[in-house]
Amino acid sequence: MAVQLPLRANRARMKREFDAQAAIGRVGETGLARVALTPAYNRVRDLARRWMEQAGLETRVDAVGNLTGRKEGRVRGLPAVMAGSHLDSQNPGGRFDGPAGVLAALEAVRRIGESGAPHDHPIEVVAFVGEESACGMTVFGSSVMTGVVGPKEMKRAIHPPTGKSMYEAVAAAGGNPARAASCALARGSLKAFIELHIEQGPVLEAERVPIGVVDRVVGYVRGKAIFRGVTAHSGGQPMPYRRDAAMAAAEFMVGMERVVRRAPAGQRVTLTFGEVAVRPGWISIVPGGATLSFDLRARTLPALKRMLGRMRRELARIRRTRKVPGRLADIHVLPPCPASPGVRRALIRGAEAAGNRWITLPSGGVHDACRMAALCPMGMLFIPSVKGLSHTPEELTRFRHLVQGTEVLAAALLRLADRRVRA
Ligand SMILES: [Zn+2]
Repeated sequence: MAVQLPLRANRARMKREFDAQAAIGRVGETGLARVALTPAYNRVRDLARRWMEQAGLETRVDAVGNLTGRKEGRVRGLPAVMAGSHLDSQNPGGRFDGPAGVLAALEAVRRIGESGAPHDHPIEVVAFVGEESACGMTVFGSSVMTGVVGPKEMKRAIHPPTGKSMYEAVAAAGGNPARAASCALARGSLKAFIELHIEQGPVLEAERVPIGVVDRVVGYVRGKAIFRGVTAHSGGQPMPYRRDAAMAAAEFMVGMERVVRRAPAGQRVTLTFGEVAVRPGWISIVPGGATLSFDLRARTLPALKRMLGRMRRELARIRRTRKVPGRLADIHVLPPCPASPGVRRALIRGAEAAGNRWITLPSGGVHDACRMAALCPMGMLFIPSVKGLSHTPEELTRFRHLVQGTEVLAAALLRLADRRVRA
């Protein structure tokens, strides 16, 4: 039986579910403080599980708290096509970051079921536990699901809301952290993974396009820049004699900003110094020490490496001119992660079937999809963020865009669940 595309989403039902989830852990009018492994988080997961079951999906919560719902395909033994995102938030964050992707996947699978469209592969909806850094480990649930994080790592990380280790927090939330290895999906168990997410940036809104097909998730280098100067009296020490670590850090920050702003736009280089600390940190003391955290991102690994090289050169220059040595420390690299051509094609076909305009763009943010890419072909679909805002209660996405994204997702899932289509 051929099914007429697009499968239109049930907007009223989606709105009801959206409002119901947004009420759990609500902060103010539009904020959400729903950190993973807390009672509020468990409440929303239970609610999502109920919706999945009402939709006829077979649900499962794994040992660390990932929720999945499965709709069987007509051919037994084939790998599943999976879609979803996360239900936890920053502390506080907005209502769309994460839930948009879970609700869209749920509605997409439900509409596929209601339409009677046949599909060979099973289709699964997932709500990963603990995607946000606020829970203590970024992309926690998908990291466990892909076997990257186990009990050892969980014992070392702190769950900020409780101050316990992640290991203890998983247990306190009803999980069984010792059995984390049981959460790892076998290679070959998934055919493809798709995550619908809000863009968290201004591009789609500026281009007036409802659908962004992600071609890759940019990579990042994170670390610290540490400067060692000489502490001195703020009045007694004339300027030429100073070896001020704060000024060296400031010169480094502004210098690197200039370098990054000059990089070609296509490389999507961003640089953020999110934490600045000077020592000893007193109004009348020339700082003898300064530490910056940096988050450097770019589309390609060579671009990242080039920028890291520029940082080292800048440090060497500042050391010569100011006599303040600086070094990079605690460097952590996450390579860029490409979306698969087959999943992108499915999303583009879906957008065209629904009559939506679309553009290709990279994801600047890290998502669970990056982890899932280790397991199977991955793709992401962005919908617009008003003013590009996210990780704040001001975060907003127009509901019609969520509905449009859901329809594209449904079409893409249906296409990928056909055994003749390559992911
Ligand atoms: Zn998110």
